[in-house]
Amino acid sequence: MNMRWNLDALYTSFDAPEFIGDCRKLDSKNEEYENFAESLPAGGNIPELLKKYVALRSEITALTEKLICFANLSFCADTNNAKANSYIELIMVRQNRTSLADVRFIKWLAASGFDPETLRGTSLEDCIFHFEELITKGRHILDDQTEQIISDMKLTGSSAWMNLHNVLIGSLTGEISTANGRSEIKPISQIRTLAYSENAETRKKAYDAEMRAYRKVEKAAAACINAIKGESITLARMRGYASPLEMVLTKNRMEKSIIDTMFAAIKEYLPCFRAYYKKKAKMLGLSGSLPFYDIFAPVTTKAQSDFTYENAADFIVEKFSTFSRKLGDFARNAFENNWIDAEIREGKVGGAFCENLFAISQSRILANFGGSYNDVTTIAHELGHAFHGHCLSNNVILNTSYPSPLAETASIFCETIINKAALKEADKETSLAILEADISSAGQVIVDIYSRYLFETALFKARETAPLSPEQLCEEMTKAQIASYGDGLDEKVLHPYLWLIKPHYYNPDWNFYNFPYAFGLLFAKGLYAKYTETGSSFTEKYEFLLSETGKRSVTDVAKIVDVDLNDINFWKNSLELIKEDISKFLDL
Ligand SMILES: [Zn+2]
Repeated sequence: MNMRWNLDALYTSFDAPEFIGDCRKLDSKNEEYENFAESLPAGGNIPELLKKYVALRSEITALTEKLICFANLSFCADTNNAKANSYIELIMVRQNRTSLADVRFIKWLAASGFDPETLRGTSLEDCIFHFEELITKGRHILDDQTEQIISDMKLTGSSAWMNLHNVLIGSLTGEISTANGRSEIKPISQIRTLAYSENAETRKKAYDAEMRAYRKVEKAAAACINAIKGESITLARMRGYASPLEMVLTKNRMEKSIIDTMFAAIKEYLPCFRAYYKKKAKMLGLSGSLPFYDIFAPVTTKAQSDFTYENAADFIVEKFSTFSRKLGDFARNAFENNWIDAEIREGKVGGAFCENLFAISQSRILANFGGSYNDVTTIAHELGHAFHGHCLSNNVILNTSYPSPLAETASIFCETIINKAALKEADKETSLAILEADISSAGQVIVDIYSRYLFETALFKARETAPLSPEQLCEEMTKAQIASYGDGLDEKVLHPYLWLIKPHYYNPDWNFYNFPYAFGLLFAKGLYAKYTETGSSFTEKYEFLLSETGKRSVTDVAKIVDVDLNDINFWKNSLELIKEDISKFLDL
C-alpha cells in the first residue's frame, strides 16, 4: 500500500498550465468581486445581488482553497520545496484582497436592513444562516478609518507583544543538573518534554529547572499578557460586545448558557478525575498526592506497537464498518486512493492533520506512521475529520466552515470507535495502556481546560481595572488549579506559570481558546453515548448532523440528534463514559 499521497487531483505541479491558469483566474475573479462590492447600490433587487455574491464568492473560495492547499500540502510533504513556500505567501496576499471586498459587502448587507428569512423557499434558502451571520458580523464592524487604524495599530500592539512572547519563550533556557553532578543548559521546550520521562528524578529536576527559568522572564511575559488582554478588552468594547467572551461565543455560534451548563456538569465529575490522579500517585509509589510534574509520568508499558500500515488500514476499515458501511468504505477509499501521506521521512513536517478539499470533494491526511497503537488512532482521528468534510461536501462551499467547538466532533467520534473496539480485543496489559492514554488526555481536556477557563475569566476581570503583576498571575493560576484538580494533586506542587508558557494566552485572536476543547470532547462522547443507546438508526442522523455543521448555530446542530445542550444530563452522559473508563482503570 502506498504511504505517500497523490496531489494530482489538485494540480500536477506549480508549472502546470492548470495551476498558472487558476492563479490568473483567481486574480480576475477577485477584481470582479472588488468591482461588485464597490458598486453595490443602496436599494435595488437584493436577492438578485445575493445570488451573484454566492456564485462569485463560492468560485473565489474554491479557487483559493485549491491553490493554497496545493502549495501548503506540497510544502508539508517536503519543507525544502521553496516554490511551494513562496506560493503560500502569494496566495495569502490574494486572500487579503478578498477579505477587503468581503468587509465592503458585509457592511452593505448589514446596512441594507434586509431580512434573510425572506429567502425561505427560494434557491438561496440554504444561505440564510450565512447571511444572518454576516449581518451580525457587520453590526460589529466600525467605520473604514477606524478599522484601518485598528489593523495598523495591532501590528505594533498585540501582534508585537505576541512576537515578543515568542522570542522570550523561543530563547528561554533552563539549567538542569545531570547525573554526574554537573549541570546542562537546555532550551525550555526540551526541558518540558522531560515531564514524560520514565525517571522520577528527571521529571522533578526538569520541573524545578522550568520554574527557575520562568522567573527570569516573568516580568516581561506579564507585560505581554497584560497588553494583549488589555487590547482585547478595548476592542470588544469598541465593537459593541459585552465582553471578550461574548465576542468569542458569537464567533463560535453559541450562547454562554451552554458552557455554563457544560462546566457545571464537569464540576460534578471532578472527583472521578481526582480519584484517577490519586491512583496514579499510588502506582508511582508516592505516599502523598500527585505533584504536577508527575501528571504525564508513564505508569504502564507502552501499548502494542507492531502494526504494519496494511494492518492499521484493515483494522480501521473493519472497525469503522461496524458503525456504518459508508464510514468503512470511505476509509478504504482514502487508503486505496492515496489520500494519506503516512510515511516518515526527512524534510516532512511532524504531527498529523487533515485538509478537506471541498473544491474537489476529497481530503488529504498527513501523518507520521511508526506502527504504534497511538499512530493507528491518530489516522482514525484524521479520517474522522475527512469524513466530516465528506458529509459537508454536498453544500455550497460557503456553508462548509464550522466553528471550533464542532471541529473535533467526527474525529473524536472515530477515535472512540477504534478505542472501544481495541479494548474489547486487548489483554490486561494493553487495556491498561489504552485506558491510561485515554484518561490522561481526557484529564487534560476536562480538568486542565476547566482550570484554564477559570484562570482566563479571572484574568479578564482583573485586567479591566489594572495590569496584573507576575505574582498575581501566578496566584490566579494556582487558585484555578486548586479549584479544578482539588485533592487530586499536591497543592504545594502545582504549575503557577502555565500562564507564561501556554501560547494560547498570547494570541490576540484566540481568547478563551480553552472551552472549545472540552466542548469538542464531550460533544463527541455524548454522540457516541447516543449511538450506543439507539444503535444503527443513529448513523444516518449523525451523518446529517455533520453535513449541517456549516450552516446552523451549535444549539441547532445538536437538535438534529435530539440533544439539548442546555440540559446538564447530556453532558453528564458524556462524562459518564469517561467515568466508566476511569473505574475500569482503577479496577485493573
Ligand atoms: Zn483533530
